[in-house]
Amino acid sequence: MLKDIKGVGPKTLSLLNKLGIYTVEDLVDYFPFRYNTIAPTRLEEGEVVITGIIETMPMTTYIKRNLNKLSFRIETDEQLVNVTIFNRAFMKNNLRRGMTVTVLGEYDEKRNTITANNIMLKEITDTYIEPVYHVTSGITSKLVGNLVKNALDTNPTITDYIPEHLVEKYDYPDKNSATRLIHNPEDLSSMDRAIERSKYEELFRFMFKINYLKSCRTEVDGLFRDTSEEKVDDFINSLSFNLTPDQTSAIRDIVRDLKSSKRMNRLLLGDVGSGKTIVAVASVYYNAMSGYQSALLVPTEILATQHYFNIAELFKKFGLRVELLKGKTSKKEREVILGDLANGEIDLLIGTHAVLEDDVVFKNLGLVITDEQHRFGVNQRSTFQNKGTLSDVLYMSATPIPRTYALTIYGDMEISIIKTKPSGRKEVKTELAKTKEIKSILSKMLEEIKLGHEVYVVCPLIEPDEESTTMDAVTMKDKLDKAFNGKVPIGLLHGRMKPDEKEKAMLDFKEGKTRVLVSTTVIEVGVDVPNATMMVIFNAERFGLASMHQLRGRIGRNSLESTCILVSDKNAERLKVLCNSSDGFYISEEDFKMRGEGDLFGVRQSGDMVFKMANLKTDIKLLTVANVDSSEFIALNRENDFEDYPEYARIIDELGHID
Ligand code: ADP
Ligand code: MG
Repeated sequence: MLKDIKGVGPKTLSLLNKLGIYTVEDLVDYFPFRYNTIAPTRLEEGEVVITGIIETMPMTTYIKRNLNKLSFRIETDEQLVNVTIFNRAFMKNNLRRGMTVTVLGEYDEKRNTITANNIMLKEITDTYIEPVYHVTSGITSKLVGNLVKNALDTNPTITDYIPEHLVEKYDYPDKNSATRLIHNPEDLSSMDRAIERSKYEELFRFMFKINYLKSCRTEVDGLFRDTSEEKVDDFINSLSFNLTPDQTSAIRDIVRDLKSSKRMNRLLLGDVGSGKTIVAVASVYYNAMSGYQSALLVPTEILATQHYFNIAELFKKFGLRVELLKGKTSKKEREVILGDLANGEIDLLIGTHAVLEDDVVFKNLGLVITDEQHRFGVNQRSTFQNKGTLSDVLYMSATPIPRTYALTIYGDMEISIIKTKPSGRKEVKTELAKTKEIKSILSKMLEEIKLGHEVYVVCPLIEPDEESTTMDAVTMKDKLDKAFNGKVPIGLLHGRMKPDEKEKAMLDFKEGKTRVLVSTTVIEVGVDVPNATMMVIFNAERFGLASMHQLRGRIGRNSLESTCILVSDKNAERLKVLCNSSDGFYISEEDFKMRGEGDLFGVRQSGDMVFKMANLKTDIKLLTVANVDSSEFIALNRENDFEDYPEYARIIDELGHID
């Protein structure tokens, strides 16, 4: 257990939890996000890295509360130098005369003194590689490195997910030593193999899930429907607008799938605002005309409510009944809904994944649709499939992803893509700004607010981090309260709030009770606040282009002119792509070219779509290999239920549950 590892006390434990580390496996898989290389330099004015022998007894001076100084002298190859370091009085016990240390810091030639920011108890003769981890206040990269080492020392056998014959085939190092190397690199060449191994392991596990689901699906036949495909035209003709050609062909794909005897498992990909909902609704219509019920699953209750009102309106003239199931739905109401659902009187049930709970029983569920698929993980894919044993499944996602990758990652699905948006859509004007222009940004915000509009403000972090070079939502809200003298009601929304607090923050903003919403990227995907006309994204360089494109899709939802301001002090060529294009697929391809996989998978919420080591752009070959290997592995071990591979039996078990 994590708490049993040397160095993990209650405080460290809670800090580790904060980083998403709950188990020993999480810890050893908590890979560095980059490596610093440190090389010895000559003793010259400015930044130096120098090795020497301690010449004098280190001395501590307490200057005032919270400030102390440790000083000593070292002898380098060239000369005697003074070293001082602040607030490291505790290091005194580790330093003795005659010890060799490496000092990193700033050399002042006149005072012949290095003001150190780090002292390492070792000699650096050659380039030294130091792993750097994402950390949170109270925990350092070094501590993480040490904890991983302690964990590996006491747990020599961590599960290796690569089947042995494949480890042999590719001549990979064993898991323990590979993991050690990644966390405590010695030289770059041995690390390469270790890194490749862990990438392959990740990709193999991932492709195993996909291919396993795929292999399950070929075994079952779907529901019987003999309603003419043209029947769906009645619904299409009732709309107040014409469908785009892509929408029409997506509907054709789906209706054909529904009619065929094979079970549907289709992904509908389309940019924000491309009009996926109506495609889903047309499918529900065809399904209802064939005598079956449908379920529409969405990630949040706000989104569920919004869909409910829109769809109920569209279905009114056809006498189709739509109901909404929320966590808050009263017991009595819930009973009525569940009763009518079981009688087959409800045609479409909308809700969050509460809709999949065991007591929600349909009379004849024929179609399950999930909106914003990227919010749900691969593990949940099979749950959707299992609810109605033979139901067809449609996934919708606004995360644009190049087709070749989609074919692998969504290898267990068929894909329809909506490329062009409905015409007449206003583009969001996107411009760049620097932090020093904050006054003019604030006055632009105020202008919008005075016009009765609303403004989103997005920050990369929730709370200040150690280095505090990055804007966080909590600080930003305070700053804005001050800047507007408390006269503008400002809301706050972030991932660490409770679900009902989040919903309230979103609703207050939607209803105009708050006029500015400061948030992280958690702004509800798909939620409509038509009155919001401006979005300011701080530290824009910290976001992927595709996720900023998704974010700005929250504005420009009516006929008003909308503006998105990307604030960044970095000279980010990348950001210009957003100013010049509103095509999500193009943007994601560009992001892909520039940053590797970037945030191809959108807001990175569905845990299992996030790779710790692998990079889908550069590792596409490895992905292809893992794809083939995992299929073979499944074919060989399916018969005996992965008897020899308990870790995979467990993965399959988990595939059936909502986490
Ligand atoms: P998304 O793909 O992001 O889920 P929606 O389905 O919410 O997009 O559609 C966005 C808006 O566009 C909705 O208000 C919808 O009614 C409208 N819309 C969809 N299709 C068309 C169309 N063919 N012509 C005009 N408006 C459309
Ligand atoms: Mg949508």
